[in-house]
Amino acid sequence: MIKDLVRRDVVNLKNYQVHMQQCKYKMDANESPFDLPEDIYARLSEVIRNARPNIYPDPLATRLRGAISAYAGVNADNIIVGNGSDDLIHGIMNSFVEREDFVLYPEPSFSMYRIYTLIAGAKPIGIPLGEDFQYHVGTFIEAVNKYAPKVVFLCVPNNPTGNVLSKEAIVDILESVKGLLVVDEAYYEFYGETVVDLIGKYPNLVILRTFSKAMGIAGLRVGYLISSNEVIDELYKTKSPYNINSVSQAVAYEVLKSGIYKERLNYIISERNRLFNRLKEIKGVKAYPSAANFILIRVADAEKVHQKLIEKDILVRSFKGDPYLNDCLRITVGTAEANEHLIKSLREIM
Ligand code: PMP
Repeated sequence: MIKDLVRRDVVNLKNYQVHMQQCKYKMDANESPFDLPEDIYARLSEVIRNARPNIYPDPLATRLRGAISAYAGVNADNIIVGNGSDDLIHGIMNSFVEREDFVLYPEPSFSMYRIYTLIAGAKPIGIPLGEDFQYHVGTFIEAVNKYAPKVVFLCVPNNPTGNVLSKEAIVDILESVKGLLVVDEAYYEFYGETVVDLIGKYPNLVILRTFSKAMGIAGLRVGYLISSNEVIDELYKTKSPYNINSVSQAVAYEVLKSGIYKERLNYIISERNRLFNRLKEIKGVKAYPSAANFILIRVADAEKVHQKLIEKDILVRSFKGDPYLNDCLRITVGTAEANEHLIKSLREIM
C-alpha cells in the first residue's frame, strides 16, 4: 500500500515538472509570486561566504531561531527548524507515532498528513469537513474520544479550502486530545490569527509554520515548529542533524530581518480579496472565501477548465481523483497582472 502511494506520487512529480516548464503563470502551489529582494541578491555572495559552506551547518539553526523567536514572540528554546514544514511533519511521526497508532486530520486538507502517517505504518483517520468545508468541532471531539489518536492535525487556514477555525474551537478540541494537537499555520500571515500564545499553557500543542508562503522562499526549504520544551526535546531525538543547509538558514534570516514580506503580504491580501470578488461574478464558478493566499473554486468540469487554463499559460491545482474535491480547482493569488489574466481566461472558458 505504501509502495503504491509512493509510485503514484512519483508520477505526480513528473507531471509537475512538465507543467513548471510550460506555464508562465504558476498559480498551483501557493508560492509567493515575488522574487527575493534585490538587496539580498546584492549581498548574496557575502551571505553565503559568512555561512561558511565548507563546514556543516548549525544543527540547531541558532541564529535563525533567534530571529524567528523575535518574529513569532516565543522563546527560541520552543522552536525547532525543519527542511520545510514537510520535514517537521515527518519528524512528528518519527518521534511520536508508532505502527498501528491513529492520526486524525481534516478531510480535505494538506495531503502530507495522510502520507506521512502511512509511511509511519500508522492509521490515518480523515474527519470530513462540513458543507462548504467548515470544521465541525463536535465531530472532531467524538473522533478524538473514539480513536485516542497520538496526533491530531488542524490546518488553519485550511489548505486547500481557505476556511479557518476560531481559537475557542481549537481550545475545545485541544482539551479533549491526550496526544499532540498540531495546528498547521502555514498560511498564518495571510490570516493574522495564531494560537502561539497558548504554547505555555498546553504542553501538547504544536504549531507549524513555513518560509514557503508569505516569506517567499519555498525553494530554499525552511519551516519551523513551536511547542513545549518536552516536545522539542523529543523531536531533536529523531531529527537529521544537518537538515537545513547553511545557505537556507542564512537567507531565511535575511528575509525575516529585511521585513520585506510585510508590504508583499498586504499586496497579496488585497489581491486575494479583489480576486475573490471577481471570481464570484463569473457564471458557473463558485468561489469559497479564503483567509490564505489561494482561493478554491468549484466548476462543472474541473478537468476541462484545468486543461484550458494551461492552454492560456496558467497552471492551477486540480484535484483529479480526490472524492472530497470533485470539480474543484485551487488558484494561488498572484500579481495583479496574473490575476487579471486568470479572470479574463476563466471568463472566456466558462
Ligand atoms: N502545511 C500546509 C498546510 C501546506 O499547504 C504546505 C505546503 N503546501 C506545507 C505544510 C508544507 O510547506 P513546506 O514544506 O514548503 O514548508
